[in-house]
Amino acid sequence: MNIINYKEVLEDIYKHISSEENKGSVATYIPELAKINPDNFGVCFLSVENEEYGIGDWQTKFSIQSISKVISLGLAYKIFGDKIWKRVGVEPSGTPFNSLVQLESDNGIPRNPFINGGAMVICDMLVSHFENPKEDFLTYVQEICDSTEIQYSKKVAKSEASVGYRNKALCNFIKSFGNIENEPREVLDFYFHMCSIEMSCQELSKTFMFLAKNDFKTSKGESVLSRGRTKRVNAIMQTCGFYDESGEFSFKVGLPGKSGVGGGIVAVYPGKYCITVWSPKLNKKGNSYRGMEFLETFTTETELSIF
Ligand code: GLN
Repeated sequence: MNIINYKEVLEDIYKHISSEENKGSVATYIPELAKINPDNFGVCFLSVENEEYGIGDWQTKFSIQSISKVISLGLAYKIFGDKIWKRVGVEPSGTPFNSLVQLESDNGIPRNPFINGGAMVICDMLVSHFENPKEDFLTYVQEICDSTEIQYSKKVAKSEASVGYRNKALCNFIKSFGNIENEPREVLDFYFHMCSIEMSCQELSKTFMFLAKNDFKTSKGESVLSRGRTKRVNAIMQTCGFYDESGEFSFKVGLPGKSGVGGGIVAVYPGKYCITVWSPKLNKKGNSYRGMEFLETFTTETELSIF
């Protein structure tokens, strides 16, 4: 087997993509996100053997947005087990992340946990379970990442809440079918905070080790998910992590992954590595333009995809 010089490969791709036009546009529907510098560009590769390479703005924190939905799914799965699949499906929706259309015919059962409606149902489960959901969730993220520096951005959460009419509609609509137990106001507050978590590429790659490393343990020595459950979460990332661009990401990159409208993408090669790319300009489907480009080139050049 060829020994790959990751540092060199990553730097070459970074240089090449930086020299090309930075297409797309930053998310503006959350006013606070519109303020980001569109030229930020960071990458962090972390292998299960702890080989780490970072380039560009890899240690700058950004809004992880929907990437947080994987972490909350992991926690709900750990707490409730397979019961969660009674309230949320595992099928790709083929629709944008904030779409309402399928919920009517699906009787309020969102197609998967990564579209907004599905993530809200997961949030509802956590709100029912915890005394202090926001505090307890943050502590859990900090433990997986082994860093107390991870925090919510109150500004971003407030900014999203001030304009989140569609998310409010989604939550209320699901509640009308009986698939939200708590008050929508409370569930949405938790959801907006979860999405507002700020992390760097370095911190995200470290956090997502819970899906890459077979024997992953938190800083307290606790395991997060069994191998069987890790397989399932990775499978949902593979099929649903990029909404109506999930097929495209699978086709181009060939790894389970998750994006967020803050411009971050995390991809996982189970048993081998995690890689995070951050570049705030998004394509029409709401996924980072440069993030997709970078990862496609990386898995093609290294021949390191799961396929
Ligand atoms: N907080 C964002 C929203 O609900 C998350 C969307 C995303 O990152 N795709 O619209």
